[in-house]
Amino acid sequence: EQYLLEVKGLKKYFDVSEGWLKKEKQYLKAVDDIDFYVKQGETLGIVGESGCGKSTTGNLIMQLLDKTEGEILFEGVDLSTLKGEALRKKRAEIQMIFQDPFSSLNPRMRVFEIIAEPLRTHQAAKGKKLENQVYELMEVVGLDRSYARRYPHEFSGGQRQRIGIARALALKPKLIICDEPVSALDVSIQSQILNLMAKLQKDFQLTYIFIAHGLPAVKHISDRVAVMYLGKIVEITTKEKLFHQPFHPYTEGLLSAVPIPDPTLREQKHRIILEGDMPSPANPPSGCRFHTRCPYAQEQCKGEEPKLIEEKPDHFVACHFPLKEGHGVLIDQ
Ligand code: SF4
Ligand code: MG
Repeated sequence: EQYLLEVKGLKKYFDVSEGWLKKEKQYLKAVDDIDFYVKQGETLGIVGESGCGKSTTGNLIMQLLDKTEGEILFEGVDLSTLKGEALRKKRAEIQMIFQDPFSSLNPRMRVFEIIAEPLRTHQAAKGKKLENQVYELMEVVGLDRSYARRYPHEFSGGQRQRIGIARALALKPKLIICDEPVSALDVSIQSQILNLMAKLQKDFQLTYIFIAHGLPAVKHISDRVAVMYLGKIVEITTKEKLFHQPFHPYTEGLLSAVPIPDPTLREQKHRIILEGDMPSPANPPSGCRFHTRCPYAQEQCKGEEPKLIEEKPDHFVACHFPLKEGHGVLIDQ
């Protein structure tokens, strides 16, 4: 099977050595040897706390950062082997929607120009044709064309995110990386934007990577979910399997934090509390990086790093003692 995107052994180390005298280099291993794939038309959620490497992963795929090691295959082609026109073309097929619609849009550009810019640069579009393309993009994201001459500051957060989405759609991308696209918005607006994104996905056969802080944010939109911790993927599987029966203690901990509205279900619920903060990625714990916070940790966990293995079909976990009775939550509550 050829995946739309395949990431193999991907690493991003930042040099954080202090001073130039020291021979010993120090690295912040923001992304440390991760593997995953994304199928055409699906949404892969990537979840984890700040500093787990999820945004860095998105930025690496977008080619906004240079990788340290590994492969990023888009339609089977390693993007880092492409040059010139071929690279430009492929890159246009991957777009990004940013967390902060307040700072990702140029404040001095009118809405029309913001959306028109990629069409001008990549397709030399102009005149009436360009105008129609921009209006069509505005229409599909639910923006009235009378807004075209306004500036970003004249809009609400949700509308700004619509402008960002229209811009991202302009070059008819195949893959859109959505980096916490609704976390800066009011709750009532969040679902509007998520619904819009789901509709666009269907209408334009889009594939999404949806990056979020917590599991509730990816519950509805994802087909599969990867959980990251300190630069590693610790679990990756379908949304149903992950929410119903997590294998990794960290996933179980994240699920314990998901609020349950029904009080009878709440009482039955097994909870594990994640103690403390995530350690610094500049100085991760030995062995299993989660061992300092894991309620199930044993001696082996401190010395030996668990590999991501396929514990059950299409259910990958990196843990020496994967949970047999992991406590999830009902997905449709
Ligand atoms: Fe916990 Fe050990 Fe599994 Fe790490 S390997 S998650 S410390 S049980
Ligand atoms: Mg981030």
